[in-house]
Amino acid sequence: MTAAAGNGHGTDSDTMHEIEAGHDHHHHHGEDGDCAHAAARLKEAPAALDAAEAACRTRGQRLTPIRRAVLETLYATHRPLGAYDLAEALTRQDERRVAPITIYRALDFLLEQGFVHKLETKNAFVACPHHHEPGELVVFLICETCGGVDEASSPEVGAALRRVLTGAAFKPRAQVVEIAGTCAHCRAGAKGESQALT
Ligand SMILES: [Zn+2]
Ligand SMILES: [Zn+2]
Ligand SMILES: [Zn+2]
Repeated sequence: MTAAAGNGHGTDSDTMHEIEAGHDHHHHHGEDGDCAHAAARLKEAPAALDAAEAACRTRGQRLTPIRRAVLETLYATHRPLGAYDLAEALTRQDERRVAPITIYRALDFLLEQGFVHKLETKNAFVACPHHHEPGELVVFLICETCGGVDEASSPEVGAALRRVLTGAAFKPRAQVVEIAGTCAHCRAGAKGESQALT
């Protein structure tokens, strides 16, 4: 589980704003620095990218520049990004057009290697540093206020779900549960800072 900890003051990067410009997220960019998800993500990014490089070497795979760029871009934000968001962000970075098909190919690789997850309901992708076991249940907690995504996993829920699937003789392609709502950080903020926001 990704711990939403630390304070994000001053850790918000310009890249993050660039990536998200032009999207109608209903949050204020000024709040990004306060988002615990952003702080947690920035902290885990360097180690996660090193681990991805190492995993590729071990598996005889290559984290090509485009694959790495896509993964880096996903680690530069705590919000899920779609293939077109990624194409836009990388085009801006390289100052030459990156075609969505290139992004899709890179995403396929990153999904296969277990470096990213796909959020089916949003058709968007989040980076994951966890190296899950095959078939491990992943529960996404998607905050509708800050847009941050946390991962939770519970062996009990996983076991219960497996029993349900076995009972139904259903073979799952992906075991992903998505729960939308308000994260602990935003709930605390709404209580404590409601005056400051007006
Ligand atoms: Zn994960
Ligand atoms: Zn939130
Ligand atoms: Zn957040």
